[in-house]
Amino acid sequence: MHYYSTNQQAPLASLEEAVVRGLATDKGLYMPERIKQLPKDFFDGIAEMSFQEIAYQVADAFFGEDIPAEELKRIVYDTLAFDAPVVYVDGNIHSLELYHGPTLAFKDVGARFMARLLGYFNGLRSTVDGQQKMVNVLVATSGDTGSAVANGFLCVEGIHVYVLYPKGKVSAIQECQFTTLGQNITALEVDGVFDDCQRLVKSAFMDAELNAHMRLTSANSINVARFLPQAFYYFYAYAQMKRQGKEGELVICVPSGNFGNICAGLFAHRMGLPIKRFIAANNSNDIFYQYLLTGEYHPRASVQTIANAMDVGDPSNFARILDLYGHSHADICKLISGAAYTDEQIAETLADTYHRTGYLLDPHGACGYRALSEGLRDGEQGVFLETAHPAKFRDTVEGIIGDEVAVPEKLQAFMRGTKQSVPMTAAFEDFKAYLMSV
Ligand SMILES: *Cc1c(COP(=O)(O)O)cnc(C)c1O
Repeated sequence: MHYYSTNQQAPLASLEEAVVRGLATDKGLYMPERIKQLPKDFFDGIAEMSFQEIAYQVADAFFGEDIPAEELKRIVYDTLAFDAPVVYVDGNIHSLELYHGPTLAFKDVGARFMARLLGYFNGLRSTVDGQQKMVNVLVATSGDTGSAVANGFLCVEGIHVYVLYPKGKVSAIQECQFTTLGQNITALEVDGVFDDCQRLVKSAFMDAELNAHMRLTSANSINVARFLPQAFYYFYAYAQMKRQGKEGELVICVPSGNFGNICAGLFAHRMGLPIKRFIAANNSNDIFYQYLLTGEYHPRASVQTIANAMDVGDPSNFARILDLYGHSHADICKLISGAAYTDEQIAETLADTYHRTGYLLDPHGACGYRALSEGLRDGEQGVFLETAHPAKFRDTVEGIIGDEVAVPEKLQAFMRGTKQSVPMTAAFEDFKAYLMSV
């Protein structure tokens, strides 16, 4: 299968090229040239299938031409070493809990899949003496991406990950999730802000001498290998609703920032998954919501909110959504509606849902829950994506509910680990000298 760029100015890429490059040469986003429909008997039997079995069928539709069946199966089964249960909350509202992976957020799925796919391609490219040439993944993080990528790639052979993060600007919980791992993960503590980290990574990709010295790649969330596997859990959510006889008029609500997650859901829909409609839930960064209302897209600087993983002022996957619906505002509005909530509304929903039902949302999931509670029509069943565990935002959540949040053992284990990081200035010469020396 080939991948084209949403900007239409770059040559078609193979899966391997698309994964290693991340962004197309014309700065567009890669799209698979075909989206296969899954057969009727797959949907007929889906309620009896496991998460891994379902995911393998979906993965086969995208990657089956490029990866041998046994390898692809291993990659999928390894990636999904945890569940994604649909849990009833109240009314007609259900939570698809995507926080049962190693770093307790949905990004684990894409990061783990990409790591294994890259590991597979790398294994094919051994050099003459039989030694693999190491692939170096550079990732800049303001917190959550670093943990998902570092843990996704942990112990994957032939790959070394460098996580660049701004010193003193990520939470203690976030920091320990990528600084305590060791092995093939190196954390670089940059004396600067997130933008400095991103600039260092971008400069590294453009530096000829460095690229001649070592193989560099990014694990950005726009990467097809991170983005497409997120379609798996939409099918699995449908399967679980079908088991309960509640799959008739299904509405899926996705708390959205860069719109990669919801975009994977739209791909699932295009593959034939019977979802009636989608709701994109935003925080105060409501650029997409405004687009739905007006037909005009005006990116702007992001504002900080308590649902900070959605603080995005120019969602990168908007280009994929436009491409998927031929740039038709009308077609997009037929399938997707929007909602946007202030910090006060998010906090109110989180506290109210907890005290009324006992279900503890995180600030992102709270946007999803609220959009369904306001937007579901008669006869519809709603599922929102609970994108992270509330304990990841412990201080915020405890302040809102006035109660303690239990921290899962997995998160406690990170917090007991020993921090190992390499101090780094924000100057590119220092970063380059470091990479040249390792
Ligand atoms: C990344 C993230 C989001 C936003 O997902 P997109 O794919 O960027 O729309 C929402 N919630 C949490 C917890 C996240 O980490």
